[in-house]
Amino acid sequence: MTRTEKLLADLIALPSVNPAFAGQTPASARHARLEKFGEKNVAEFLASYSACAGLDVEFQAVLPNRPNLIARLRPRNKTRRTILLAPHLDTVNADDSHLIPRRKNGRLHGRGACDTKGSVAAMLGALCELAAGKARPSETEIVFVGLVDEENAQAGSRAFAKSKFKADLAIVGEPTRLEVVTAHKGSLWLEMETEGIAAHGATPQFGKNAVHEMARIVDWLQTDYAAKLRKRKHPVLGSPTINVGVICGGLQPNIVPDRCVITIDRRTIPGETEPRVKREIQQFLRAKGLSAEMTDKKMAPALPLETDHRLPLVQQFMKIAGQKKPLGVHFFCDAAVLSAGGIPSIVFGPGDVAQAHTSDEWISLAQLERGKNLLVKFLKSLP
Ligand SMILES: [Zn+2]
Repeated sequence: MTRTEKLLADLIALPSVNPAFAGQTPASARHARLEKFGEKNVAEFLASYSACAGLDVEFQAVLPNRPNLIARLRPRNKTRRTILLAPHLDTVNADDSHLIPRRKNGRLHGRGACDTKGSVAAMLGALCELAAGKARPSETEIVFVGLVDEENAQAGSRAFAKSKFKADLAIVGEPTRLEVVTAHKGSLWLEMETEGIAAHGATPQFGKNAVHEMARIVDWLQTDYAAKLRKRKHPVLGSPTINVGVICGGLQPNIVPDRCVITIDRRTIPGETEPRVKREIQQFLRAKGLSAEMTDKKMAPALPLETDHRLPLVQQFMKIAGQKKPLGVHFFCDAAVLSAGGIPSIVFGPGDVAQAHTSDEWISLAQLERGKNLLVKFLKSLP
């Protein structure tokens, strides 16, 4: 068993389920397994692991009992650049069986194996290997930051970005099958509400049917508007999309409904801001004589990510990873938050997102080791 694999197995056995998912567990089970929620145990375990490896360790307070963990390897000389290794510490919900790491056919199974305890093990493993050896960069500081709350509202990366921490590149750990990703879509959740006039179902002519008005809006969103979005194309990410995911309206058959509500998921490409999206939808509604109230349903903005792949540090990393063209992914992550905070960010990590959030999450151990080795090679190549 390699050190990276051992570290990952220890991390899987130490649960860190995002407390936002506690409500999805039956109350009885929740009481018995309260300790599985929150990142504190993992953060403390990684703190002592890092301290033993000679790294400077500190916690950044984010939410009660849920700190970011920061571990630094300072260069011998004055710091001229800083590289951030930034995976998240939380996972989606887990059964007890997900918390027992199981090795089978070159894979390690368990909650967080690829999303993103695999990246934690590869990134911190690489940093510790560098700290133990002689060949460390002479003027580049390398900072590992284990972020909390990525799976819910990204409180960890938002607090980190707000702290005005400066870095020249952040490598955000997510399962990309060791591909270097420079772009992903953003996501807007908008609630739209139509207002009608209630009346007796036998005399609908005296009312105004909010469900009918919404039906026309839904039809437009899913046909004409979706077609319009398909014409908009980003070179790496393709087209933006729209999905009407929830609809709610009416009380009973013999009342003309005075209210109907939908929630839409609008995936955005770089350049599409929330005000712009709202404006284009409102403009259409006005033109058709329709009207709906629109409110943002996300707790925090989920912006698209687009980092210039021609940046020298990005080029250097892509070269070491053996990749010529920039890539995009469909999922949102901490990279967009750090990038909006002024740190050029890319996404990279072992594992495949196809296994993330599934009941049988696993990671390829060969990929885990290769990921750690690629990171060591990159970090050693820095001055
Ligand atoms: Zn995830």
